[in-house]
Amino acid sequence: MALGSSCHIKRFAKQTRSTLHPDQSEQTRPHPESAGVGHGTRHRNIRRKTPSAGPEPLGFYFPLTQNNFEAFGFAEPLVRALDQCGYQVPTPIQASSLRPQPDGRDLLALAETGSGKTAAFLLPILQDFAASGIQPGPREVLALVLAPTRELALQIDQEVASLTRNLHTIRRSVVLGGVSKGPQINALKRGLHILVATPGRLLDHVSERHADLRPVRTFVLDEADRMFDMGFIRDIRKIASMLSHKRRTAMFSATMPAEIRTLANELLNDPFRVDLSPKQVVVDRIDQKMMIVPAAQKQGRLHKLLQDVSWSRVIVFTRTKRGADRVTDRLTMAGIGAVAIHGNKAQNARQRALKDFSLGHVRVLVATDIAARGIDVSDVTH
Ligand code: AMP
Repeated sequence: MALGSSCHIKRFAKQTRSTLHPDQSEQTRPHPESAGVGHGTRHRNIRRKTPSAGPEPLGFYFPLTQNNFEAFGFAEPLVRALDQCGYQVPTPIQASSLRPQPDGRDLLALAETGSGKTAAFLLPILQDFAASGIQPGPREVLALVLAPTRELALQIDQEVASLTRNLHTIRRSVVLGGVSKGPQINALKRGLHILVATPGRLLDHVSERHADLRPVRTFVLDEADRMFDMGFIRDIRKIASMLSHKRRTAMFSATMPAEIRTLANELLNDPFRVDLSPKQVVVDRIDQKMMIVPAAQKQGRLHKLLQDVSWSRVIVFTRTKRGADRVTDRLTMAGIGAVAIHGNKAQNARQRALKDFSLGHVRVLVATDIAARGIDVSDVTH
C-alpha cells in the first residue's frame, strides 16, 4: 500500500477466505472471555485457557463470528466510509474484536500489521464519537493511539483519515519525532478527537502542557512488543499513568513475550482476548525459501536473483543501518534501482524512499528490521 492510501480489498478477500472455516458463515456466540479465528484442526496453537491468577496464555475457543460489517450497527457515515474503502468483509481480527470493544471491553490482541488491526481498533473509537457527538475542549485528547515508529504512526493516521472521511467534525492529528513541533502544537491546542503519536514526542508535548491526556476515553497501544524492543516501555507506563482509570484500553502485539504480558496485566482490565496467529497468516500468504551463502558472496547472489524480472518489487532486510546503505550503494552501482530506509535517515528521506518504492520508481527497498516494521506496501513480489 502506498503510504497515504488506506483502502485495500483484494488481499483481505483472500485472507479471510483462507482463514475461515466453511461453517463460519453463521453468527456464532463467542466465549465470554476469548475469541479466536480459524479452524481448530489447522491451528496448532489452540490452547485451553487454564484458570490462574497471573498472566494467562492467549487462548481461544470459538471461531469467527461475523462475515459482514452490517451486524455491527455502525453509524451511517462509517458504513459509507467502509464502502468507499472497499472493505466488504471484516478481516478475522475485525470479525472477532468489533463486538466486545463497543461494549466497553478492554482488548488484548495478538495480531500484526497486515491483519486489518488498525480498522479493528479505530472503528469502535469512531463509532463512539459518531454516537456521542462529543467534542474535545482545547488541548484535550479523546482517543490516543501510540505507535512505535513514525512510519506506522503515519499509516494509522491515514487510516483514520480514510475512515473519518464522512465524519466532518472529527479532529485528528499525528505527533511524531524528527519533524518540527510548531504545527503539532497548533493542532494539539485546538483539542483532538484522535491523536496518533510516537511516545517520546508525545511526552515532550505533555510536559510542555500542549496536550491534556486526562480526557482520553480510549487508549490504544499498537505493536507493543516492538515498543518494548525499542525501549519505550518506561515512556508508555508514564503516559498510561496520566490517563483516567475509566478509559478503555486496547493492546496489539505480534508476539507476547513475558514483559508484554506483564504490561498487559498492568494496563488492561479483564481484556477480551483475540489470538490471531501470525504464523498462520505467513504460511497462507508467503512462500519461504532459505539459501545458505558465504558472507562474501551474498551481494553477488542478490544481483543474480534480481536478474529475474519477476522480482519486480523486492524488500531486502539487513541487520545494521550501515549494512543497508552498503547493499543499496552496490545495487545502485550495478544499475538496479534501490533505496534504503533506517533510523539514521531523516523522516522526509524515509518517506520519500517509501513512496518511490511503493510507486514502483525503484525496484528494491533495503531496510533494517526496525525501520521496516509496520510498513504496508502492496504487491511485494520478494
Ligand atoms: P493493517 O493491518 O491495519 O495495517 O491493515 C492492512 C491493510 O488492510 C490496510 O491497507 C487496510 O486499508 C486494509 N484493510 C483493513 N481492513 C480491511 C477490510 N475489512 N477489507 C479490506 N481491506 C482492509
